Amino acid sequence: MARQNELLPVPYVHVVFTLPHQLSPLALQNKKVLYDLLFRASAETLQEVAQDPRHLGADIGFLSVLHTWGQNLLHHPHLHCVIPAGGLSPDGTHWIHPRYPFFLPVHVLSRVFRGKFVAGLKRRFQQRQLTFAGSLRPLAHEKAFRSFLRPLFRQEWVVYAKPPFGGPHHVLGYLARYTHRVAITNHRLMAFQHDQVTFRWKDYAHGNKKRIMTLGSQEFLRRFLLHILPRGFVCISFFGFLATRSHHFFPHSALLFPLLKMFHSHAYRRKILCHSCLATLDQERVP
Ligand SMILES: [Zn+2]
Repeated sequence: MARQNELLPVPYVHVVFTLPHQLSPLALQNKKVLYDLLFRASAETLQEVAQDPRHLGADIGFLSVLHTWGQNLLHHPHLHCVIPAGGLSPDGTHWIHPRYPFFLPVHVLSRVFRGKFVAGLKRRFQQRQLTFAGSLRPLAHEKAFRSFLRPLFRQEWVVYAKPPFGGPHHVLGYLARYTHRVAITNHRLMAFQHDQVTFRWKDYAHGNKKRIMTLGSQEFLRRFLLHILPRGFVCISFFGFLATRSHHFFPHSALLFPLLKMFHSHAYRRKILCHSCLATLDQERVP
């Protein structure tokens, strides 16, 4: 119990993994496979880099939430990971504090993530798990698929980290905000007139400028429907010592329970900006 109390007040970090836009068409045709790979590759990346004694040398726990949209409702798959800043020593006896201001080096995360994701894609290709339809049909040939993957290594993949923020109360704000989202919220919708939908958005590429966009209703619906997840797909996952399966073996995962309890019982009101989708939320009371 004393250990749990020690753990609770640690700061948290927020890391966002984003898929390069070239993968968007493939992801839309293979949502389950690619979103699942996004969860796995990012989780393995975080755990592997954290376990490296050069960076942290500890076992970490975190939760990941999938968002598939950008502010303009186009396809922009990214994963928000909320991580207690630090980890357990390999022998499980003490808490190891991070040595970098941003917890783990982002450029290392980016490279490792890229390698794991592309390797995962190759594996799934070999296992014939990928579907290629329409304009992607040529990629069904191995040589073409390899050529398609090659340029992905010539660019840096976007992994973004926010500086550590306060303890569990802040995390609850994050949880409320990221787990209860759809591609657009009512308060951003301004008008539906003459078969056109007008909504507010923030232009991340241009200094978070507030803008207004009007789309034909068909195009608006097309964009909205891009974000429907496959049936049964869960958009939040827990990893490491926050994973459900470790509860029996690792009592420290009780760290999660106060979070979830408060998440379900308290009111939170805090504006937080998502780096990728740039959504802000006035958190509502959660019953
Ligand atoms: Zn987001």
